[in-house]
Amino acid sequence: MASRPSVTFAPSFGSEDEGEQDFQYDFHNVAAHQQQHMGPDHNDPRAAAMQTTGMGGGGRPNLLGTYALNSGIVGASSRNLNSAIGADDGRSLVGALGQSIRHHARMIDGDQLLPAESTAAKKAALAAYDPYQDDDHVSLAPAVELNYEKEAREVKQHDGGSAALRAFAANASVQGANENSTTGSGRIHGAGQSSVAPLAETTSSRFSLSNWFTNSFSNLSDRGAKARFSETEEDEVVAVIRDGGTGLKGGGSKLFEEAPKERFVVQTSGSPDVDTPRAPGRIETPFFWLVPRSGANAVRTVMWRCLRLAEASEAGAGEELNVLKIVDGEDKRYVNVDLSTSKGLAHAKELNLASSGVPDVIISGDMHGTLELFNNLNRARVFAVFRNPIERAISKYYADLASDPDVAGMTLTQYVRQGGHRVQNNYLTRHLSGRYGGKLEVFHLDVAREFLRRKFVVGLARDLPATTNLFTHVYGWNNTAAIMGMDNAEQCYQTIFNALTDSSPPSVDEGSEGWKLLVSQNWFDLKLYEYAEYLFQQQIDQLKKKGSLKLKATAYNRTMTSTPLNAALAAETKANPPKPVEVVRLEYSPLKYVVSKVSLDFKLYTGRTLVESVLTVTDNDLQKGESDVGGEDGLVLDGEEATVKLLELSVDGCEGALVADVDFFLKPGKLIIKGDTLRRGASSNENVMVVRTTVEIVPEDNTQLSGLYKSGDMYCTQCEAEGFRRITYYPDRPDVMATFEQVRVEANSKDFPVLLSNGNLVKEGTCEGGTNGDTRKFAVWSDPFPKPSYLFALVAGDLGCLEDSFTTMSGRNVALRFYSEHKNVSKLSYAVESLKRAMKWDEDTFGLEYDLDLFNVVAVESFNMGAMENKSLNVFNTSCVLADPKTSSDANYFRVEGIIGHEYFHNWTGNRVTCRDWFQLTLKEGLTVFRDQQFSGQINNCAAVTRISNVLTVRGMQFKEDAGPMSHPIRPDAYIAMDNFYTATVYRKGAEVIRMYDTILGTGGFRKGMDLYFKRHDGSAVTCDDFLAAMADANDTDLSQFSRWYSTSGTPTVTYVSSFDEEKGLFVIGLSQTSRSDEPLFIPVALGLLDKETGEEVLPTTVLELKEMNQTFTFPVKGDVVPSILRNFSAPVKMVPASGVVNESDMAFLASNDTDGFNRWDSAQQLYAAAILKVMDGKEYAETLDLVLSTFGATLKDASISDDAIRAYALILPGESTLAEAVTVVDPPAIRNARKFVKKAIAKKFKTELTAAYEKLTACVEADTVFKVDGESTGRRRLRNVYLGYLCALDETAEQQIEAAKIATAQFEAASGMTDKLAAFNCLVSMSGEGSSARDAAIQKFYDDANGDPLVIDKWFACLASADLPDLLDRVVKLTNHPDFTLKVPNRCRAVILSFTASAAFHDDNGKGYEFLGDMLEKIDKVNSRVSARTTASSFLSWKRYNEERASMMKAQLERLKAMPTISNDLLEIVMKGLK
Ligand SMILES: [Zn+2]
Repeated sequence: MASRPSVTFAPSFGSEDEGEQDFQYDFHNVAAHQQQHMGPDHNDPRAAAMQTTGMGGGGRPNLLGTYALNSGIVGASSRNLNSAIGADDGRSLVGALGQSIRHHARMIDGDQLLPAESTAAKKAALAAYDPYQDDDHVSLAPAVELNYEKEAREVKQHDGGSAALRAFAANASVQGANENSTTGSGRIHGAGQSSVAPLAETTSSRFSLSNWFTNSFSNLSDRGAKARFSETEEDEVVAVIRDGGTGLKGGGSKLFEEAPKERFVVQTSGSPDVDTPRAPGRIETPFFWLVPRSGANAVRTVMWRCLRLAEASEAGAGEELNVLKIVDGEDKRYVNVDLSTSKGLAHAKELNLASSGVPDVIISGDMHGTLELFNNLNRARVFAVFRNPIERAISKYYADLASDPDVAGMTLTQYVRQGGHRVQNNYLTRHLSGRYGGKLEVFHLDVAREFLRRKFVVGLARDLPATTNLFTHVYGWNNTAAIMGMDNAEQCYQTIFNALTDSSPPSVDEGSEGWKLLVSQNWFDLKLYEYAEYLFQQQIDQLKKKGSLKLKATAYNRTMTSTPLNAALAAETKANPPKPVEVVRLEYSPLKYVVSKVSLDFKLYTGRTLVESVLTVTDNDLQKGESDVGGEDGLVLDGEEATVKLLELSVDGCEGALVADVDFFLKPGKLIIKGDTLRRGASSNENVMVVRTTVEIVPEDNTQLSGLYKSGDMYCTQCEAEGFRRITYYPDRPDVMATFEQVRVEANSKDFPVLLSNGNLVKEGTCEGGTNGDTRKFAVWSDPFPKPSYLFALVAGDLGCLEDSFTTMSGRNVALRFYSEHKNVSKLSYAVESLKRAMKWDEDTFGLEYDLDLFNVVAVESFNMGAMENKSLNVFNTSCVLADPKTSSDANYFRVEGIIGHEYFHNWTGNRVTCRDWFQLTLKEGLTVFRDQQFSGQINNCAAVTRISNVLTVRGMQFKEDAGPMSHPIRPDAYIAMDNFYTATVYRKGAEVIRMYDTILGTGGFRKGMDLYFKRHDGSAVTCDDFLAAMADANDTDLSQFSRWYSTSGTPTVTYVSSFDEEKGLFVIGLSQTSRSDEPLFIPVALGLLDKETGEEVLPTTVLELKEMNQTFTFPVKGDVVPSILRNFSAPVKMVPASGVVNESDMAFLASNDTDGFNRWDSAQQLYAAAILKVMDGKEYAETLDLVLSTFGATLKDASISDDAIRAYALILPGESTLAEAVTVVDPPAIRNARKFVKKAIAKKFKTELTAAYEKLTACVEADTVFKVDGESTGRRRLRNVYLGYLCALDETAEQQIEAAKIATAQFEAASGMTDKLAAFNCLVSMSGEGSSARDAAIQKFYDDANGDPLVIDKWFACLASADLPDLLDRVVKLTNHPDFTLKVPNRCRAVILSFTASAAFHDDNGKGYEFLGDMLEKIDKVNSRVSARTTASSFLSWKRYNEERASMMKAQLERLKAMPTISNDLLEIVMKGLK
């Protein structure tokens, strides 16, 4: 990427605690309670008299009759409901009962009502509970199924008995669990390669949150299967529920065909959808599906005790009459049928129970058997109470323990293994999907969900009051109760709920093996229950809002969250952040397992994004890699648990669910899947394993701007260096190069019509799944080129596009699409043109052609870096891609072209060949910066000007960095936060190192080296050593000494001493090098010689190879010469005379005569610097100043200089940061004053000439009718603005101030483009005295003219924050309170804060500037830690270079930051380096 000074914050996102898990049981009391209140009384003498048909009898109205009279389901009751359930809560019917009732609800249990007889469904249901009863089907949950099955078959071969197996399994050893197992006693070890898994694995629970998900795809690597599932099978699910089980017989899906069809009887036609109004005159009977141990009995009690409903249930067992009647028991009224047996159901059918209207409510545990009583005309309205399936299962365990001698005394684990049909096994899913026996597929879960959604009024055991309220209002029972004069119904509920006792339950060891087994065995039910919870809330909300249930027919929500697998870890690392770890270069080792193929599916919702990944993993055995799992062999995935919630994890082919700490490990930042587990899933002769995960992330909360985040209204990504681990679990390191075969992105189509990712667009369209009826859109992208995760990109937004095309050298047509916010599209054309130039240049210069049919570029406002070279989807900071004369300066244009080129060039140097590890960053960045510098210089025919600006950056930024505590070699040896190493050293010095290859080998040799580099390494991740080897081998030369540049930090110094031996006609130059390397570096020193008399060049540029500590070079010359040393800045060194004193007259000579454009400029700079430093140090400067003035004058008037840009550079004094590098103790105010002094002296002396020159150029500029950014126009503007700067430097008298303000204001107002306007504005903001009013007017006008354009506002802030004014700090503090200021957008933050730190006022003696920055950094670090770290690095870190007072005040700020309780890793690393 293109490095930028930049920032960020580190909020820790912990996942919330996912609700309590307290199991509270007192089934003894509950049983007693039930006995007392619920026993049906069959001997009621009045029963016979209560025989009735139609509207009830025995003097009591039939409540159903009343119900049938209601015009709607809810009718007038909604008012009551609202008052009853409370407007704000919606949970508590009887307000005061509140929380404790929910505790009670846990204890409401009934016996598990197993369908008992004869129907096929019932038979199958029974089979479902005992895997060993049915030879054809084992039917434990998928979690343990296969292993049980394998084992069962194996054991049967041995002893032919399943009873033996059960005993065996129960006693088998359990790895990691020590409860009551006879270790090893029953272990089967098949001889050799047994197909049977070791028993330890067989019986240990395999806890997978997503096995069910995995199991639904028959072809594991086929994403098509998945697409079918989500897009087509959804319809099938709906059809099953709409049409009943018959929908399947026509040959449903592949999944269905795999299993016997009769197992999928879903009878639904007798039940209308919840939102279907009741047809007038039609008989509809509420049907309460009795889910055992769910709290249903409490509701049932309410129905008969408080509401006096006549129930048709099992209560009429034994009644022989062939006519329906209501039996009026002592408490209970019931119909004389028995719906608990198939015989009873058949009898009820004969008696036309469904059309009779006799019962008020039908109650049965046999869902489909009961629904068969109904049809289209006589319908049943279904309702039920649901409870957490694990609570239900454990409740049943305790009940069985107490009541069933066969299981008495068993531990939970034993019970789960031996309990057979007693043990819960996805009871709900099986019943609702009709899949009583056999293996469950996710399809069944979907059928069950859809059944629930369409047909059920859903109640929850955890909120019985609200549940009861929901039912009574939906069915109008409150009304009927009122009609019957039962106005105390609610008190009655309260009494019932209060009667539920709450005493200490036997504890359940959550996480024990038995518990895990239960979880895995009820996994579908857990998912189904989550959905029931969701429906419950929806129905409550609807009743509150509308007074009726109108469940919208949106598809069932398959994206419900559950407790993330890594929630505990996230909480732990939030509470106790792990210590930052230093990564060391030499400790690199390849991964044992790598990812070769990736499929990703992003579903973007507001506030929540789901990412499903399918990773094809291969054993990297050939590389003999070690994994870093404490010696264990495994697949290591990176993921930030604070950001990435792991919802599901599975390994294809691993039928057993994965067990935490057995099959996989979660550690801070890591998910490790054991090799054994992977291999268990791989087919025996294929080295291919498939790992699937589903995670949830919240891009809206991501202010770090790393990973997937929201920038304005769009989603975008930044993954380099380690952002991908903030998106999903993945081996997030550059040496894992995988093919991203499919990236599917789905989002709301209105807000995000543009969906982009890497590679080619394969497919797009609309899909269902929106909430609130939104239409959703998806796009599928495929990238054929293997790439590391840091090159992944995704963008979604409402973006405008500028499209163009480029034909490559082989004739391929490439579509170029540039995206931005609609209003900015007009500012993209310069970038498009730049890209085309770059593509052409790379073909011409290096023979490198673009490799895909599409190249996308997106402009993003909030971006940490300049831009990012993601494969075929470059993402740019708006400041680096938008260009428009009104808002962009020439520097902006130049920058856009350079960065567009830079990112494009990365396609080969970075993407096709990438870095093995991040220590090698300079491999791609140094090389690519070099390439973009060459491009910029050559394309604009301004090599010298480009070189000058490059070197200014190296000297101003990189040398400073290398002189401070952040000093590191271009290939660092260790880091804590890699983001801190996107430095000037890696980039700029790295580019200088590449340039030295070019200098040493020549352009032809360099090209040969590049060709070999690509030939050897295309498609791989390599090191700096590999690059060096390619360069050396291609040129058949030894570069081993040169390699020291990669490991040496600091700026080397080369001293020179020269002499002329007139007698021998020899010029001798001695060079000596010093650096932090013990051994000498290989330094190419480009030298030219000019005749002292004539100024003629007598030795053209020659590269001296300085390979020793001291070396002497001799040249025969005719007369004395002036050496032009280190031409074109041929090595990143400080070149100084051995004497320590610059030969000023030589510099003046070179400034006028050198043929090397760079050195000509550089000589003048040295001369100017000498004068400024003498002034600063109070030394005698008159002579030097005279030289400066004469050199300046000569340059000003030199007619041979045709390039205005060259002249401009030659007339500018060295900058304050460059000057600071030349002194031992930096005193910024003193440097500024001395520089101003010299500037004024020049301006004073040449005022007339400068004014004339300025006016001449002004006339030229004003004559230009068309705005251009070519070399000529930009050069002219640059030069004119240099003149303006000098003219405005004259500001001592009121008259001068007025004059300066006048000329600057004139330019400011007349400016046709941003360059001229900004230059004038820059002069104006520092004006005072008589210039103040012009200043203030300009400040206002510039802001107004910006009209909110962020890039212009940034310029405004930056100018104001670096003004040369005595009260600058006060002004900057005000700026930070400006409504347009924000810490969240790095560009804005930098504009103010970094600009201020570059001013002399920052270093004011009183230390207030430092304090202010400390205050700001504390705030910034919480928003964006990359920004805080970089700001600190560029400001406080070099404190040792200042005088004692300043140093101690700066250090104090570092100490203060270090003491922050929540300092980010990024900042901490910098601060610690600073304090070393
Ligand atoms: Zn880059």
